[in-house]
Amino acid sequence: MKPLRRNNTTHLTTDPVTGKDRILDWQQNEHILYDGGLVDSANVLRKYFRDCGCDAETGGQCFECGAISCKTCHGRCQACHKPICLQHSRFLHAEEGQVRLCGSCCDRISRKQTRAKIGRFFLSFLVKQEDGRDG
Ligand SMILES: [Zn+2]
Ligand SMILES: [Zn+2]
Ligand SMILES: [Zn+2]
Repeated sequence: MKPLRRNNTTHLTTDPVTGKDRILDWQQNEHILYDGGLVDSANVLRKYFRDCGCDAETGGQCFECGAISCKTCHGRCQACHKPICLQHSRFLHAEEGQVRLCGSCCDRISRKQTRAKIGRFFLSFLVKQEDGRDG
């Protein structure tokens, strides 16, 4: 059975990192003519989710794997400020709360500092950052 008519619709968004088009969803509408003169219509809607699995607004692209995450899942390493997806984030529980790190920063800090010292290290780090912003 050959389709009588076929319409394709593609919804695109601009990747915030590469500036290239990224498919949000793709829709196909097909009309098929049968021997008896019956026309059948079929609709196919294909959704392209963010790499994090969410169907939400794009937050950014991971520098490690290139995955595009939504605004909720995407974040930055609090030490080197590189963009990271949820999968490549390491969360450390420091004294002042949860700290999000990329793999290499986490390894570097873990090697240098004992777990007990992480809190104090980040506290001094964050204080330094805030001083820099003020001055
Ligand atoms: Zn990643
Ligand atoms: Zn997400
Ligand atoms: Zn980092």
